[in-house]
Amino acid sequence: TEQLLQKSEKLALLGQMAAGIAHEIRNPLTSIKGFVQLFKSSSQKEEYFDIVLSELDRINGIVGEFLVLAKPTADIYSSQNIKILINEVITLSNTQSILNNVQIFAEYDTELPLIICEKNQLKQVFLNIIKNAIEAMPVGGEIEIKVKNETEKTVSIQFIDQGVGIPQDRIPSLGEPFYTTKEKGTGLGLMICYKIIENHNGRLTIDSKVGEGTKIEIVLPAEQQAGIKNEAI
Ligand code: ADP
Ligand code: MG
Repeated sequence: TEQLLQKSEKLALLGQMAAGIAHEIRNPLTSIKGFVQLFKSSSQKEEYFDIVLSELDRINGIVGEFLVLAKPTADIYSSQNIKILINEVITLSNTQSILNNVQIFAEYDTELPLIICEKNQLKQVFLNIIKNAIEAMPVGGEIEIKVKNETEKTVSIQFIDQGVGIPQDRIPSLGEPFYTTKEKGTGLGLMICYKIIENHNGRLTIDSKVGEGTKIEIVLPAEQQAGIKNEAI
């Protein structure tokens, strides 16, 4: 619990930071991009401009991820069918999964309660997890998604991949901002997942074996049980 406490304290601080920084940075980024696009049309050095543009897109992407955390008011919680949400996310992941030779299978208990959630945030969580799973399987493989109604009060969603796995001693670092093992990673995906699931009064656990794969389980309260915190961090 001491470790958990530290993590959530860090996250709270980060949330305050993110709210300030993200808003400060996004506007100038947008205008820089506009100017660079103008320069581009009146210059020969297209290559440089393309690089600058894609770097700006990258920064914009990082800032965008922070904004998910910083948004103080716009969360709208509603009752959702988890099966529909997961299917939407599988469709969204199609291009990346096909390109990487990854097949995604989903399996649902026949009776599932609705869950109360901020739909777009929860989809973001599922997307981040599937993206990581695909990236963990450089030669392709399968992702299994199992949705179960284990107790009357909770819904469990498991994402199981056949990827490279995570060493045991690294698992506590997952979810720390900027922790990444990827050359082009941001190290923000899992942090955002933890934060969003925490806001939904849920729980996210990671289980992994190097060379075999990783299982990420999210447990969310069923509709009747949700006492949702609708607030910024
Ligand atoms: P990023 O994907 O940008 O690196 P994340 O926060 O999404 O940032 O993930 C942090 C790190 O956790 C990854 O760099 C990777 O080392 C590890 N990781 C996350 N998911 C998986 C997975 N399914 N299999 C193996 N490693 C993973
Ligand atoms: Mg990621």
